[in-house]
Amino acid sequence: MRIIILFLSLFFISIAQPIINIDSDKSSITDFELSYFIDTTNKLKFEDIKSMHFTQGKNNDSLGVRVKEAWIKIELFNSTKQIQALFLHQDIAYKYISLEYFEVGSDDNLIKEELIAPYGPNAKEQLRGSDAVFKFTLDADEYKTIYVHQKTPAYQFYNFSIFSAKESVEYLIYQKVDAVLISGLLLALALYNLLLFMSSRYKEYLYYSLYLLSSTLWVFYVYGAFAHYFQIYGEIPLRFNFGMMLSPVFLTLFIQTIFKTKTTYAKEHKLLNSIIFITLVNFIYALIDFNSALEIMSLSLSYALIIFMWIAISIYIKGDRLIKIFLFAHTFYLIFSIYALLYYMGLVESNYVSSHGTSIGLIIEALLLSYLVSYKFKITEQEKEEERIKQLELRLLASTDPMTKLYNRRYFTEISDKILHLSRREKQELSILMLDIDKFKVVNDTYGHQFGDEVLIALSRLLVEHQRKSDIVCRYGGEEFVILLPNTSLSDAANIAEKLRKLIESLSMKAPSNDNFKFTVSFGVANVDIENEQDIKFALKRSDDALYVAKKSGRNRVCVENIKNY
Ligand code: GH3
Ligand code: MG
Ligand code: MG
Repeated sequence: MRIIILFLSLFFISIAQPIINIDSDKSSITDFELSYFIDTTNKLKFEDIKSMHFTQGKNNDSLGVRVKEAWIKIELFNSTKQIQALFLHQDIAYKYISLEYFEVGSDDNLIKEELIAPYGPNAKEQLRGSDAVFKFTLDADEYKTIYVHQKTPAYQFYNFSIFSAKESVEYLIYQKVDAVLISGLLLALALYNLLLFMSSRYKEYLYYSLYLLSSTLWVFYVYGAFAHYFQIYGEIPLRFNFGMMLSPVFLTLFIQTIFKTKTTYAKEHKLLNSIIFITLVNFIYALIDFNSALEIMSLSLSYALIIFMWIAISIYIKGDRLIKIFLFAHTFYLIFSIYALLYYMGLVESNYVSSHGTSIGLIIEALLLSYLVSYKFKITEQEKEEERIKQLELRLLASTDPMTKLYNRRYFTEISDKILHLSRREKQELSILMLDIDKFKVVNDTYGHQFGDEVLIALSRLLVEHQRKSDIVCRYGGEEFVILLPNTSLSDAANIAEKLRKLIESLSMKAPSNDNFKFTVSFGVANVDIENEQDIKFALKRSDDALYVAKKSGRNRVCVENIKNY
């Protein structure tokens, strides 16, 4: 008898009717064949269905978006020697209006009939998390058929698994791990960006965060996590489609802000506004008639996806280097969601990527957009820094002499007034040194103008090396220098001048003729009357007079104003 049944079952398998062979006490069957029948009339009963021709399919598939009622036929054979208690799981069952199970024996007798109505009042008792579970038994060598009559409000896709008791419980515990991981990741990213917005006030962060939040809601919903963790069934979880419906608005605002489309890309900005308009119309319609709005949602989403792509390409052509990241992110999203769409339409085969395409695309996009935001602010900071350095360079260029790198006369006039005010406020003395190279014409005439320049540079270096931080050393004219000495009395200034004079006198250079070259400098020293003088012009004149005296009286010396030889 047993051999005949085995032979029969093998025969069944070979002529296309797939039979699932239960050969273990610990069954966990997640990949098997079944057959289905699409009821286009939407009113066939169990009695009518048995004579219909079923099409062979997989345990995990989509029959397309238009199919409202379908019948699934699952055939099983127990080849173990024990009776098996089995659990037929229907994943994301909360989406169905109803699921009717018919357990049929090998002689075509109806053993059990069960109705699960996820939209009905007893959904909480009937469902296990987001799954519908139908329990049945198979005696040793027994053959049975389970028919499932499923009605959906929208998409007709299904995912069946068959488990033994222990495996069924484990599956229920662990099945939503991916939903938690994905939505947890998105949620963390959303909160992080919200915090960034709160501290920086950059609107990009806010829009990006809202985009992530609305996407998170949707991901949590499509994975059945609301049903699984909170036992929310029926029409209510369907409302979380609002997340997906509204997400293009936030993505649009994000792009408009980060690429400054309003001022930089006016045409693209207007097109982006059309996404906001269409999405909001869809949203308002959803408040009135949710189910009809849901059908239009895929249209408004497709519109948004196409416009985003179009705009990204357009901005890319116009030479924005940042848009490349968005283009990249959006391409990923598009590829994965088109793949998912083809799956929902029943056009590509079912696997993890096709059935989770949208959320995979969403995560890749979210991560790339995070990179976009940080990259954008890096560029902004860089640009700011470059601008600051340019300003500084310009100011420095305007205030220094290119050859000696000392301050020029223009800057000296500017800063000396400020220092005079400061000295007056602080009641500190302020002195001036004026110095001029002795017989410099002769240096130029003897060794050439170029060597003359080298002497000027060497002298400048010496002056800077020996200045105090607060001193202002300036090239006042050709070979004439002025040093402003804050917080310095006249006699201290004279001492400083004398020290410099000696240093210069002992400075030795190599002339072009390879001779040792030395030169001297004359100094005029003056003190600013900080109480009575409004600027340093008069003190400059007095130091110039003192310098004149130094020259007249033999050069290489320091003269202090009032013709007091030092
Ligand atoms: P004195 O001791 O009286 O100052 O004699 P002097 O020869 O130095 O006379 P004066 O100060 O009138 O001459 C300044 C000379 O400095 C004239 C000019 O050719 C030279 N000179 C001015 N600027 C530069 C410069 O940038 N490079 C070089 N090589 N020479 C310069
Ligand atoms: Mg001179
Ligand atoms: Mg001179």
